[in-house]
Amino acid sequence: MAHDPYAPCICGNGKKLKFCCQDILSDMIRIEKLIDNQPDAAEKLLRSLLKKHDDKEVLVTQLASILTRKGEFEEARTQLVDFLKRHPDEPRALLALADVCITTQGFGATRRIVHRAFQLGARQFPAGVAMLASRIAGQMAQAGCAMSVREHLALAVRMSPPDRRNSLLMQLANFESQRTIPYPFRGRFALLPVELEDPQLQKEDVRARKVSQIGCWEPAAILYSRLVEKCPENGALWYNLGLFRAWDGRLKEAAEALHKAGSVLEDFDSAVEAEALAQLIDLEISQDNYAIVQETVNVSSVSELLTRMDAAGRFARVQSSNNEDQVEGSRVAAEFEFLTEEAAEKPDPAQLPDVIADITILDSDENSGGPRALIVALEDDVEKAISAFRELAEDLAAEPEEGSRNQLSRMPSQCRLFDWKIHHADGIGSSRFRELDQERLANALQNWLSSPLAALGDASPADAAKDDDNKVRVGGSVLTLDVICNRMGYDPDLSGVREQLGVTPPAPMPIDESSSITSLPLLQFGRVAETDLTDEQVIEFTNRITLVRHLRLLERAVEELVKRPAALEQFTPMRGHLLRATVAREKNDMQTASECFEAARNAIADDPDAFRTRLELDIRELSCRLDNPHDEELPGLLEGIRDRYFVKIPEIEDVIREELENSGCVHLLDQLAPVTATSKDGVWTPEGESEPAEGGGKLWMPGDS
Ligand SMILES: [Zn+2]
Repeated sequence: MAHDPYAPCICGNGKKLKFCCQDILSDMIRIEKLIDNQPDAAEKLLRSLLKKHDDKEVLVTQLASILTRKGEFEEARTQLVDFLKRHPDEPRALLALADVCITTQGFGATRRIVHRAFQLGARQFPAGVAMLASRIAGQMAQAGCAMSVREHLALAVRMSPPDRRNSLLMQLANFESQRTIPYPFRGRFALLPVELEDPQLQKEDVRARKVSQIGCWEPAAILYSRLVEKCPENGALWYNLGLFRAWDGRLKEAAEALHKAGSVLEDFDSAVEAEALAQLIDLEISQDNYAIVQETVNVSSVSELLTRMDAAGRFARVQSSNNEDQVEGSRVAAEFEFLTEEAAEKPDPAQLPDVIADITILDSDENSGGPRALIVALEDDVEKAISAFRELAEDLAAEPEEGSRNQLSRMPSQCRLFDWKIHHADGIGSSRFRELDQERLANALQNWLSSPLAALGDASPADAAKDDDNKVRVGGSVLTLDVICNRMGYDPDLSGVREQLGVTPPAPMPIDESSSITSLPLLQFGRVAETDLTDEQVIEFTNRITLVRHLRLLERAVEELVKRPAALEQFTPMRGHLLRATVAREKNDMQTASECFEAARNAIADDPDAFRTRLELDIRELSCRLDNPHDEELPGLLEGIRDRYFVKIPEIEDVIREELENSGCVHLLDQLAPVTATSKDGVWTPEGESEPAEGGGKLWMPGDS
């Protein structure tokens, strides 16, 4: 096929063929054919062409790509560097060199080249920039620089060609839902508007924002460092400088700039947010942390070991519903909790032991190794657990081996106050455990108030708050506390803590009707006045916070959502009501949860698929009510399920039985027998309302439709 000499050149650099690769066209086509199946021949041809045409970027980048695929990074680098000495501004050679260097030396040592490649390549070769940015995001994740990961991923999305965009968006969504990352880091941060008098400085600000837009955060930070030198009291400048540095993966310097921003920003809430962000970054890099470790002990004769463990009071077997579980490639034989004291025969909910260690017993597996016990505990507790285990296992446990201990993760020491696990004794029900957790949480918050904090110069929040000069730092520490609690699985209302400290509660933030909630920094979500939002924004708020998972914010979002029929309709009513039920369940508010299930039933009444959806709702309500094994509505609900579904869908009966057994509610199994057998006993009938069910939960009656 003849090539139109005035069409864009096949090398992709945008020039017309006639003025570009016309003279090597036939060779280029040959190389294209050879490159996948005969890379050596392609390499040879490229090398000889490059000798004659040492100005042709396409030749050197193709050669480098063959070399890197062969693992010859050094040679690829040499070729590219030689070429760039002659043509320093060729964007694709720069992008290729940046790619090679990132692989061999890491982003830290390669920043300059990367940012130069971004600057020269962004307009013409955005796909190359996108590819590099997503590679850097991967390295930043390894280094624990979450803000940098997110921003590089967002850059990759902005720059990616349409066919790659979806997969990058998925990667971004996946990152945003990772609960191990403190939640503010999972969202976007926005540069603050800056007020500058001098037009020359204004120009510099604009330049910095432009290069930031294409991921050049070191150049942006350099421009801003000069600006803060000239305007050291400008808080917005310091804040933006902090963001540039954090996005560039320089956490220590980022925290310094953000602390400074917190100390000079005039608006109190903005100052508190800057300070909180600085404190959160400090926690990421602090050496003051604790480890969760795993010790592997080889064992023999698993069944004998399980018998011994079952007989020992301080080892409690965990009821697992799934026997197919695999860990490290081996089948899980059993899971145990090692407790602070013996579990009582009849557990007293007020005095349940704590879990010191989780112990998983693995069967032997041809590929993965012999039978072994994995003991997971906090670093400080693990020895206790190991020696108790060895004492019990005696001859069944092998001698300790070198390298048997792994560190699974590290947590900032501030999390330790909120790190506990109560032994879940059978038959007590999740709602009681939530109450216990709430009691602990209230105590932990009081302890926090009087515990020294590094962020407050080792003063306790209560002491630091006595000095008015510390208001911003103390306010920041409360916001940080919210993040720490969220990370540990709790979202307490901190208004009481603020009150005790005399910290002004965050002021509601005005939000323009046209602005997008998704682009709001997550640290500001607490300041969203949901009642002032448009329907569209309420939906966005709910979706966003569902992804992030913050119970208290989710409650605010979803309460507002259900008040707005049009918004709820758009969100899908069933989904909205169930989300609200989830929040109510977490708060042990069965009354509200009942209302939600009823509302959801009403919402789906006319659906073509109503029977199935109704079944799903009934099972969800059941699982929710089983949190309290003595919930008075349970017998009626079970009877309703039995009558409606057991005949039409027989396999449901097994599902329900298993659910009852797993939640320690075997006393309810009788309710599943056919009507004649149990009609006297606890079955709800409209006349027989004499049971103590009168008090609560009467809003919805099983059997109503
Ligand atoms: Zn060309």
